[in-house]
Amino acid sequence: MNKSIFLDLLFPKACFSCGKFGRYICISCAMKLRVVEGDVCPYCEKGSLYGLTHPKCKRTYRLDGLRSVYYYDTILHKIIKEIKYRCVRGGIKEIMSLFPQEKMSTLRFYYQNMIETNMLPVPLHRNKLKLRGFNQSLEIANFFSNTMHIPMDTKLIYRKKDTFPQAQLKNRRERFQNVRGAFKINIQNKTIPRKIIIIDDVWTSGSTTKEIGRVLKRSGVEKVFVLTIAR
Ligand SMILES: [Zn+2]
Ligand SMILES: [Zn+2]
Repeated sequence: MNKSIFLDLLFPKACFSCGKFGRYICISCAMKLRVVEGDVCPYCEKGSLYGLTHPKCKRTYRLDGLRSVYYYDTILHKIIKEIKYRCVRGGIKEIMSLFPQEKMSTLRFYYQNMIETNMLPVPLHRNKLKLRGFNQSLEIANFFSNTMHIPMDTKLIYRKKDTFPQAQLKNRRERFQNVRGAFKINIQNKTIPRKIIIIDDVWTSGSTTKEIGRVLKRSGVEKVFVLTIAR
């Protein structure tokens, strides 16, 4: 018997949001996911074309832009939480298979125009990787990298500090302090790309990706963008 069929019999797939059997995200919940219509600046979170950081919000070592596929509403919140804490790799694949074609082509068109760009998944600390078995950001980056034909760089930075889960920290300051100094550039990576698109599952306070952006820019990366499933 095929291993996945065996697992399905043992643990039948049920919708992470409503509990209906058959899929991790059932069709009716999938239809309720809201696609981002207007992007926002990653700093003031007010409307901005292509999610670019407003000129007045720019500082040295800050991110240059943010784009996301869906709004992070209650349904998606439940789904992503279940994937992470129940370690369901197949759930991530299901979300990505639901991405609307139109949104994907808009994003593809936007990022493909960038030259000398690499996609970078947010690295997971080796302890967490051992615990969870997979890095969800790597799964997502793999998908975007394949569909947009943008190379992925998984070695550029690594997670030095095993941080406390960001979702359990309530305020922005705690989140920023938690990730401060958590990432390091891999000095064995001899070529520093000009542009980087950091890939993550969710944008909430943005503290993790902002910290990565700071490390990358201090190492000579010129532009750093963020692309997430939800915000
Ligand atoms: Zn459902
Ligand atoms: Zn702004």
